[in-house]
Amino acid sequence: MAITAICPACDETVILNAQPKLDQKVRCPHCRTDLIVVEVEPVELDWDDLEDDWDDDEDLDDEEDEDEDW
Ligand SMILES: [Zn+2]
Repeated sequence: MAITAICPACDETVILNAQPKLDQKVRCPHCRTDLIVVEVEPVELDWDDLEDDWDDDEDLDDEEDEDEDW
């Protein structure tokens, strides 16, 4: 039985695998937006570019600065 969720970008129905997992990446076939599974019961999708991404970038910059001190 197919599991469906609503695309947050275009409000169309997206069909998922039978067993969607958290953080699973999905591409909306209607608007081609890259999405990620944020809830599994019920399935909920969100944009793949979460704010956590630029926190990681900041950590990397700090490490680079330490290297330059050498
Ligand atoms: Zn869409």
